[in-house]
Order: sequence, then structure tokens, then C-alpha cells
Amino acid sequence: MRLSKKIEGIVREIELFIQYGVQESEQQGAITLLQRYQNDALALQLMRSFYTSLPEIHEEAIGRIVFISKKNDIFLLGLSTARHAYLYLATDQKALLFGQYGQEVSDPEIFTLFGYLDAQDFFEKYPTFIDCEEYEPVSASGSRFCPVCLAAVGEYHLLGCPVEICPWCDGQLSRCGCRFEQLGVDALEDEEELEELERILEEKGRIPYAKEQRPSYPSAMDE
Ligand SMILES: [Zn+2]
Ligand SMILES: [Zn+2]
Repeated sequence: MRLSKKIEGIVREIELFIQYGVQESEQQGAITLLQRYQNDALALQLMRSFYTSLPEIHEEAIGRIVFISKKNDIFLLGLSTARHAYLYLATDQKALLFGQYGQEVSDPEIFTLFGYLDAQDFFEKYPTFIDCEEYEPVSASGSRFCPVCLAAVGEYHLLGCPVEICPWCDGQLSRCGCRFEQLGVDALEDEEELEELERILEEKGRIPYAKEQRPSYPSAMDE
């Protein structure tokens, strides 16, 4: 699948940057954290942004990523190393450093976007990240993306994804017979029939990805 290939590429890129940019004593910790987030596109964007463009050369590994706030698709996350703490904005497409603890924030209006009065208000609420919850990787919480086609919560699956639920029978759309019944055919043979299926699915009310659809047991996905 294209998207997971892309994710693999990012993981490898980060590994390289850790190997060349992080001091040796911290490399093992950096790799362990990378493995923890290896399926989480958003955390990977954050790690890539950090390791490829450190504001100063500290050669430090990321110690912890914490969740602070979220506005629409944009996450406000904290990232700490042994001696520094940073603030990032991140989506699964991109991450952007916008502040470092102990330094002036370049774009303080960002705090108001997330509901804080100003930078001072924010730093009074978050003098450190100690009380913040860890940002949970998507594989552990089973949340934002379909594990097979990577549709986000609320989005339609790629047609044919085995996680998609059939709106006619509530079964597994890729396995139940409803699609043939509805189209009045024995098999789906060409692009036209696929398009017709997509059309009648949407007319019926296609079921977008939701967290609850995530299979509870890995064996349910074995095919
Ligand atoms: Zn899917
Ligand atoms: Zn069905």
C-alpha cells in the first residue's frame, strides 16, 4: 500500500538522522521511541522535523512526546529531551516547531488558536510537561486511522478495504454478498460496475471509518 510505504520511508530517514545526529549514549533510547511510534504518521512527522532541523546542535534524543491540545486536525504537542523542551504543531502530513521553553515564541498568536489568552497564559498552565499525558501512538490506542487502508476517522475507506462495514447487512462489505445482490450480478467484472457500486453505496449511506471498526483481535484481519 502506498501510504505504508511512505511511512516506512520516513522511519528509515529518521533512523539515519538519529545515527548521524544524536550522541551515541542516547541513540538506543531514540530508536526505542521511534519503534514505539513507527505506525503513527503524525508522531513520525514530528520526529522527522525534530531530527532533521534541530534549532541548535544539541545531539539530543527525543525523550518524550506529550499531548497538549488539538484543534481540528492540528495537534499541539510537546517534545522533551534530557535538557530542552519544545512545542510543535503537527498533522499526519507535516510538523512545525514553533516554540522552545526558555525562549521567545516566534508566533504567539498560535496559543490563542488553541484557546489560551497568550503565551504567558500558556506557560503558566504548562510550566513543564511533567503533568502532561504521553501522546499515545495510533497502534496502541487504535484510533485515528483504519489499520488497513489508513482512512482517517470520518473518512470513507478505500473501496475494497476489509474493514468497511456493509450498510445493507452490517457485515463485512468485502465478504458479504450484498454488493452482488444490489447490482444484480454474480461478480464484479469491470470499472463500470465498481463505479456503480460506489454510487449505490453512497446513495444507501456508506459507513465511514470509526474507531470501533478496528478489529479487536489480530486474527480477524488474517486473510
Ligand atoms: Zn479501511
Ligand atoms: Zn452486506
